[in-house]
Amino acid sequence: MARSGLELQAVADTTPLLGRSLPELQDWVVTQGQPSYRAKQLHQWLYERSVHNLAEVSVFPKDWRQSLQSVPVGRSRIAERSQSPSGTVKYLLQLDDGEIIEAVGIPSGDRLTVCVSSQVGCAMACDFCATGKGGFRRHLAPHEIIDQVLTVQEDWQQRVSNIVFMGMGEPLLNLDSVLSAIRCLNQDIGIGQRGITVSTVGIPGHIRRLAETGRVGDRPLQFTLAVSLHASSQAVRDQIIPSSRHYPITDLLQECRDYVQITGRRVTFEYILLAGLNDHPAQAEQLAKLLRGFQSHVNLIPYNPIDEVEYQRPSKARVDAFAEALRQQRIAVTVRWSKGLGADAACGQLRANRRPTSLTV
Ligand code: SAH
Repeated sequence: MARSGLELQAVADTTPLLGRSLPELQDWVVTQGQPSYRAKQLHQWLYERSVHNLAEVSVFPKDWRQSLQSVPVGRSRIAERSQSPSGTVKYLLQLDDGEIIEAVGIPSGDRLTVCVSSQVGCAMACDFCATGKGGFRRHLAPHEIIDQVLTVQEDWQQRVSNIVFMGMGEPLLNLDSVLSAIRCLNQDIGIGQRGITVSTVGIPGHIRRLAETGRVGDRPLQFTLAVSLHASSQAVRDQIIPSSRHYPITDLLQECRDYVQITGRRVTFEYILLAGLNDHPAQAEQLAKLLRGFQSHVNLIPYNPIDEVEYQRPSKARVDAFAEALRQQRIAVTVRWSKGLGADAACGQLRANRRPTSLTV
């Protein structure tokens, strides 16, 4: 049944304000019977001053401000904050429906990177990943992604320079919300697309579709796509990534090639190092063969331990040997030693259903 105009307005009004562009805020302000210049003030308070409740917007007339108290802004509550010795801070954030997600703030020199979640839980069930052990609960809405970045920015009193979609969830299964959040982070909050990385384990057809139709607002994609490859053979990938059985590596790499061709952007490949399973130098050579002719960069991630499985992190010497074997084959490579280990905040250690045990600030 078609909805009346009034009903539609009621529906629209329950959508939080966070995530709306300036023209959208102008529309909203006008429906509130206010002059449209108030939208600029609202935009500034939402995105620069990180307001949690519109009753705090002191530049608004008092009567109006008070009537806005119950308008949903879209900010979460920090349920817990814990810090690892390296300075990485993990946040457990409570959403409106009580679900908990995790976001991580990672300092590095002048830079502040936020690792954001795109879903509550994850359906991909990768064997080495804590999030995967808990299953999927729901997608995040754009405001719930944006809020994670504002939370870190507010807590650190420092501008966020980089964002990695490497928290909980599979971003390509929630692509509309992810692209809408990136639009806002880029255009409303001012974080450069080139400082943003979206990481995927690969979903058949989705990488090509992203290349063909994905846009950030009215702009082309400029963020980096990172693909969690993690193996140099189908057999090993099948062993650690269940979804790989329905998505041959050759098809995944073909989509990546198409992505490079269509977007003109490089792809980063992530490769988790699991001792005795995929860390042999001969496997580095096999990986180099797979990636030959590719505009790519490989990030090696030494495994971060989780409770449920018996995998081991390789020794530093073994990690270095793997990296060197790739370099010998002229593959650009970086080793990513995770910083959040002490707070269970490193790649793959994020889960919502367990409280961090280490140092709580
Ligand atoms: N679903 C997306 C993004 C979330 S995971 C993806 O798979 O890419 C972000 C990165 O952390 C991925 O490369 C993932 O494979 C890696 N990761 C997961 N568990 C890990 C662990 N225990 N140790 C190290 N890296 C891990």
